[in-house]
Amino acid sequence: MYSCSVQKISNKQDLRRVLAGKKSGRIVFVPTMGALHEGHASLLRQARELAGADGCVVASIFLNPVQFDNAGDLATYPSTPEADLNLCEACGVDIAFTPDPAGMYEADRSISLEETSLSSVLCGAKRPGHFAGVCLVVNKLFNLVQPTDAIFGKKDYQQLAILRRMVRDLDIPIAIHGAEIVREADGLARSSRNVRLTPEHRAAAPAIRRNLLAAKHAYEAGRDAETVCCDLAAALETIPGVRMDYAELVDAETLHELRSPSSPAVLAVAVWFGDVRLIDNIELQRA
Ligand code: AMP
Repeated sequence: MYSCSVQKISNKQDLRRVLAGKKSGRIVFVPTMGALHEGHASLLRQARELAGADGCVVASIFLNPVQFDNAGDLATYPSTPEADLNLCEACGVDIAFTPDPAGMYEADRSISLEETSLSSVLCGAKRPGHFAGVCLVVNKLFNLVQPTDAIFGKKDYQQLAILRRMVRDLDIPIAIHGAEIVREADGLARSSRNVRLTPEHRAAAPAIRRNLLAAKHAYEAGRDAETVCCDLAAALETIPGVRMDYAELVDAETLHELRSPSSPAVLAVAVWFGDVRLIDNIELQRA
């Protein structure tokens, strides 16, 4: 199916019709909210590789209003539709699905989908309804695309963990793949929201990564989780312009308290620069 020319499809019926013609090979799916950058590009390239020449790569570009707990964040979310399609083309995407909210959701929709354990901590505790909105839209997209595989970035570590849980608990026959975080040269995790940072905030933001690395070092050298978190939060507070949201060291799978000091762990942070909220994380493992 790989033709090196992305097909833009904006409604569900056309998507179903085109995909129904696909009889063999993998369908590899990458959901996005647009304003695509190198982080998305790495997922799309991995999708192309996984799909192979006979498979089909589908990217969705849909700014899902249902997962926004903050109207201002939704209203100011960047949008670069033409550049997005060019990037899809360059990464070997076959189909870019670009629905609008009215085409995705019935006006009187009344089904919700809530994950109740992993969503209760970290960003879930700070953004009520966010992960229910993510689960709903990803479920709908899975039903529309019916992929064999889907790729999500570890940048949104909690989202990846929740979606793994969703396919497990709902017996959804899709392999979920986690992709490494893509960063700017100075260490800042790529994010569609980075363009909204002021120059001062942009200059200060790489300190998030530097502090995460220092905390990983301290933890893997034996410092206890609580001290590592407190020290990290204190260090992040000193970054010019930062308002702390959270810094937590949790079990990499359950996202709750570490089961044992040697369990794989993740250190996840969220900070505000003005009205821009950035997240980042780092995986930790004690010998
Ligand atoms: P978004 O458009 O922000 O919803 O992101 C779409 C997908 O791209 C999600 O699976 C994200 O985790 C992933 N993603 C976003 N930024 C990055 C990044 N810097 N590195 C790796 N994956 C990313």
